Amino acid sequence: MDYFALAQAYQTPLYVYDFDRIAHTFNTLKNAFKARKSLICYALKANSNLSLIHHLAQLGSGADCVSIGEVRRALRAGVPKYKIIFSGVGKQDSEISEALQSDILFLNVESEQELYRIESIARDMQIKARISVRVNPNIEAKTHPYISTGLSENKFGVDIEQAKAMYIFAKNAPFLEPVGIHFHIGSQLTDLAPIKQAAQKIAKLAHSLLALKIDLKFFDVGGGIGICYDDEQIIAPYAYAQAILEALYGLDLTIICEPGRLLVGESGVLLTKVVYEKYNGEKRFVIVDAAMNDLMRPALYGATHKIEPLDSINTESSSSARTSSTHTKASVCDVVGPICESGDYLAKGILLPTLKSGDLLLIKNAGAYGYSMASNYNTRPRPAEVGVINGEARLIKRRESFEEMIKDEESLLKG
Ligand SMILES: *Cc1c(COP(=O)(O)O)cnc(C)c1O
Repeated sequence: MDYFALAQAYQTPLYVYDFDRIAHTFNTLKNAFKARKSLICYALKANSNLSLIHHLAQLGSGADCVSIGEVRRALRAGVPKYKIIFSGVGKQDSEISEALQSDILFLNVESEQELYRIESIARDMQIKARISVRVNPNIEAKTHPYISTGLSENKFGVDIEQAKAMYIFAKNAPFLEPVGIHFHIGSQLTDLAPIKQAAQKIAKLAHSLLALKIDLKFFDVGGGIGICYDDEQIIAPYAYAQAILEALYGLDLTIICEPGRLLVGESGVLLTKVVYEKYNGEKRFVIVDAAMNDLMRPALYGATHKIEPLDSINTESSSSARTSSTHTKASVCDVVGPICESGDYLAKGILLPTLKSGDLLLIKNAGAYGYSMASNYNTRPRPAEVGVINGEARLIKRRESFEEMIKDEESLLKG
């Protein structure tokens, strides 16, 4: 990929996504489940760009949404309504009624109160609401506490006993139709054991529900498969699928899987330009034009993103004229953005060669939870996004302008 040309054409900071690689990852996961009926519902929150969702939809993907805004995005991007599911602990009445009106596959219910609310809205609308209960299996996912969701101490889902009671209520409610069972124990999972354990626990519950004549059709195993940011061992899609298929032994249910990060994380980079280098005493800082408002993960989770100077990557490309290896001795530095926060960093204590103003750096594995978490903090416009498909780059989101950022406030300005 000619990042130099992309930086020139679209400026930096710039998100670049390899759509072909996304397709490859999607197909690998889909194939891993081929022994069974399965539906992959891409978790939009990882990256909700319409072109990217559309690309996945064309491959057969559905959508896992956590707000009505995401449901609308999925529909606008061409995801068929019967492949859209809606999760989240705080769905509001208007979101529930719109989801029911949209006739999506089902709503993942996260509490008893929410179930009663859905029932009453569905009754008012005289629509049968297809639901699934998110069960919290109380299993330690061994990931960052901010992205662990499968323990009782987390706000997500309901425990097994409560879930059972909810299914019985739903079975007897004329405007509810329990069609699925759901769990999602966390994100960036790198250990298969807790997933296996959770799948077994929930499969057991599914057996007992089927015995109660609750006609489940979908076994929704959530998302959460981790990717390699640093040196993590990652779960192979095939092993993942096998673990789930084994847990499902004897259950004739369609598997739904909701990966976000896995599908898009490694396929995206954030391209950034060096603005300055400086030393505070002995400490070296590389100041770049991307910041925590563009990529929040390091500041939010202490996450690691590998950063590479561009010429060490593109040496084999045709643009050799621009890839002179003038960068020699590497030394330790922090890569930081221009935002007025000490937490505004993109990497700490990494080795980089001497850099000069205008040099390009690639921040790797930035396709997931990058742009979707971007903000305008420090009145910085959100970056542009480019999708590369069959070697061809296409702008899929323009860089925000200053005028766009203030338009609404200005129109509301007094006097
Ligand atoms: C966030 C989320 C996902 C996706 O998580 P990844 O770690 O990106 O795969 C899937 N399902 C639900 C319910 C989620 O909240």
